[in-house]
Amino acid sequence: MPASPSPPVRGGPDACPGALQLHPAADGLLARVRCPGGLLTTGQLTTLAAAARDLGDGHLELTSRANLQLRGVAADAAGVLAGRLSAAGLLPAPGHDRARNILGAPLAGVDSTPRWDVAAQVRALDTAICAQPDLARLSGRFLFAVDDGRGATVAARPDVGLLPRADGRVGIWLAGVDHGLRTAPTDAVRVAVAAARIFLADGRAVAGRIWRIGDLAAAELARIVAALATTPGVHRTLAADPPPAPRQPGVPPVGVLRRPDGDHALALAVPLGRLTAAQADLLAAAAPQLRITPWRAVVLPRLTDAPGWAHRLHRAGLGTEPGSPWLGVTACAGRPGCARSRADVRADAAATHATRPTPTGGGGYLPVHWIGCERGCGTPAGPVLRVLATGDGYQVSAPGRPTVHVPPGAALAAAVRTAREEP
Ligand code: SF4
Repeated sequence: MPASPSPPVRGGPDACPGALQLHPAADGLLARVRCPGGLLTTGQLTTLAAAARDLGDGHLELTSRANLQLRGVAADAAGVLAGRLSAAGLLPAPGHDRARNILGAPLAGVDSTPRWDVAAQVRALDTAICAQPDLARLSGRFLFAVDDGRGATVAARPDVGLLPRADGRVGIWLAGVDHGLRTAPTDAVRVAVAAARIFLADGRAVAGRIWRIGDLAAAELARIVAALATTPGVHRTLAADPPPAPRQPGVPPVGVLRRPDGDHALALAVPLGRLTAAQADLLAAAAPQLRITPWRAVVLPRLTDAPGWAHRLHRAGLGTEPGSPWLGVTACAGRPGCARSRADVRADAAATHATRPTPTGGGGYLPVHWIGCERGCGTPAGPVLRVLATGDGYQVSAPGRPTVHVPPGAALAAAVRTAREEP
């Protein structure tokens, strides 16, 4: 897919929040904690749960880039929060706080055997980003991705994506497109960093007037491809792979999963992508490591007594069975957290979905995202049903289908359900 012929010109550096650069919202300051690859240790999750309880509103929000957010932070608590995050290893390079945006394939090794060790590559890339002082100037929206070979993360159109291939090479995808750039697995991290540095060589990127490789016009993108092709260890083939197929509607796995190596994992739906501190503590007790997914769920990649933990986590309010009503249901902050919102979208979403199982059989299925205004914060990548507050009800829209306006209540629930089941 070609880059935009008319690149957007930004007004200046993006205002993406971080752990040090907090965003003022109607309910207090919002802190976004980068979790490269969605990877967290037990100790880190425990620290975050305590911070949410002591310094925030008692919740941890999952984002579409597999990061975590705390809301309701008081101005005089920001320093304490930064200190706790730093001690837990969640702020390894303060200057690079907002640059550590790395998607990882969350089900690698859980439902399939990956072509490489995704978590190890994510950690190596994170370390390499933090070691390059100039990469601190990347916008908070610049995104790296480490795929497992199936293409789901490069389909999210990261600025720089690493896709291990069946031929043993790694494809370097830029803005979600394969340009035929190939390297060895041992060189992939170095080449990804080189791609970001070539992007930053454009003075507009440093000035904040372009934020992402996807902002570039086709000719500008072609210059980056040509420069990267001359990087040591990179070769270019004319046989570029086609764009990945748009994500098909489907149901993410939930429940106890049997890993290829015989151990067990547990995938959990999180109501509206929002964990309570108590739920986070319980997750931290269940397994030594946790992965946040871009669809705002949680995967415990390896644990013992998976059925027992599934039972306990279900009692704590998390979705642990196929058909969980919370599968694929997300919402922006809405009222009262966001002053722009026309409705308490979380409450309306909960009332609509809480008791309605998600269809798990054949046929279509669309994720649904509730939003309080046209900004559409946190809208997932790919086809999605948007439920937009209008002030006198909701507008329900899905790709390729007529938009309908419905009042809240039973008619809304029926409209949303119909739209999800019949994409
Ligand atoms: S979509 Fe609108 S209402 Fe929702 S969080 Fe963003 S700005 Fe606020």
